[in-house]
Amino acid sequence: MNKKELLKAVKYDEKGLVPVIAQDYHSKKVRMMAYMNEEALLKTLETGKVHYFSRSRQALWLKGETSSHYQYLKQISVDCDGDTLLLQIEQAGGISCHTGNSSCFYRELTEEVVEAEREAVTLESDDSMLGELYSTIMQRKEHPKEGSYTNYLLDKGLNKILKKVGEECTEVIIAAKDEDNKELTFEIADLMYHLTVMMAQKGLTWEEVSVELAQRK
Ligand code: AMP
Ligand code: ZN
Ligand code: ZN
Repeated sequence: MNKKELLKAVKYDEKGLVPVIAQDYHSKKVRMMAYMNEEALLKTLETGKVHYFSRSRQALWLKGETSSHYQYLKQISVDCDGDTLLLQIEQAGGISCHTGNSSCFYRELTEEVVEAEREAVTLESDDSMLGELYSTIMQRKEHPKEGSYTNYLLDKGLNKILKKVGEECTEVIIAAKDEDNKELTFEIADLMYHLTVMMAQKGLTWEEVSVELAQRK
């Protein structure tokens, strides 16, 4: 796109600012994030030296004006909806951050923390999947549906449901002896469904089971 098209595509926020990501032209590493107003963008295009708008000083900011760590513009892109700019720059002195770091993003979570968080999220999503199944079953219980297998089980009562849970347990055990996990996946899904019907019948939620599990940690 040409300069006119670029200027037209940029959508500034209510304060007249647009977020800007500055990426190293050579290494492609993200170096910093700051804001531009229209004046800063025009100055950057005119001079080839990156200008931002400093929110703390509420003023046009030529990056490098005091540190000499100027940024030379190599490429500029606007994102799909025009609310973010991506600059590719050459960084004078190799330092972009006022702390002396090459990038502003020098503080990161240790890998173990990221891993632990991911596990917690996985647990949560498993939880919500069973929670959703529970809600569907409760819905059937309150508003029976013609031809629903869940309603058939609930009508037959607890003993019928328990018999099914017992059968599904046995089927899980048999499937676990297979080489591949295809059948096992199927049988576990069956078992979880029948367990959830039993829980719905008894008014016990997965939430309560999760709390019990969490307390054992
Ligand atoms: P400079 O533009 O590098 O001459 O720095 C001028 C002032 O801008 C510094 O004293 C900082 O307050 C601020 N500054 C510079 N670089 C950054 C950055 N990457 N992120 C946030 N503030 C910065
Ligand atoms: Zn966007
Ligand atoms: Zn910084």
